[in-house]
Amino acid sequence: MRFDIATLFPQMLEEYLSASVIGRARAKGIFTAQCHNIRDYSFDKHRRVDDTPYSERQGMLMKCEPVYRCWQAVCNMTRSQPYVIYMSPQGNTLTQKKCGELSEKEHIFILCGHYEGVDCRVVEKIVDEEISVGDYVLTGGELPALILVDSVVRLLDGALAQPDCYQDESHYSGLLEYPQYTRPEEWEGMKVPEILLSGHHSNIMKWRHEQALINTYKKRPDMLKDSQLSEYDLAILTKTDPNFKM
Ligand code: SAM
Repeated sequence: MRFDIATLFPQMLEEYLSASVIGRARAKGIFTAQCHNIRDYSFDKHRRVDDTPYSERQGMLMKCEPVYRCWQAVCNMTRSQPYVIYMSPQGNTLTQKKCGELSEKEHIFILCGHYEGVDCRVVEKIVDEEISVGDYVLTGGELPALILVDSVVRLLDGALAQPDCYQDESHYSGLLEYPQYTRPEEWEGMKVPEILLSGHHSNIMKWRHEQALINTYKKRPDMLKDSQLSEYDLAILTKTDPNFKM
């Protein structure tokens, strides 16, 4: 899978993309990522990429042409038409389901806005989808782009040390993850549940499912509305909270 990321601050992205799990996946060639400085595509002799908005609002807006030329250069260089995403607080909120869909794409071009954002005409011209990382406004699209790349890359074959271990994690199956413990067996009077020390695989699997259900109910009951709960699941939740109702 290939990512091309258009930004005014490539150095902000490079360090993250070279470190830890994502950096190792990149080094192994599980994905490639190239950051492009939009400023390199400015016609302006001072390499200006922004101007004041016509609405007379304060602040600066990124101009169409450098963004468009950057996208064209990537299309020409890669001889492909990437799926184009503009990181934007106005977009669809990124979810685990969306990450799964994006992990099927071969080539994604991400546009990071900055300042007041980007002239809407270039968004209309090249962007397939606007994606938001939540209902709040950040100063730039660089952190959102990293969130998107990170959450998609960890779903690619070989990116994580244990294949498919993301399937047990929060949100993958519509539930939050069960509680996790590591050594020591007892800390500050709090013990690791006996069952996790038993080595009984099928009982541990059952415990994990029940705990995931209870954890979700306690922390994010809204997530259960879209879940297909079995009779057994409903019984677990009723035992946890006698007032439980779907
Ligand atoms: N004026 C824009 C608006 O009100 O919709 C906000 C611009 S924001 C200050 C600058 C850039 O940060 C945006 O162009 C976008 O790329 C990025 N950004 C800010 N918040 C974001 C969010 N929640 N999700 C994704 N990108 C975001």
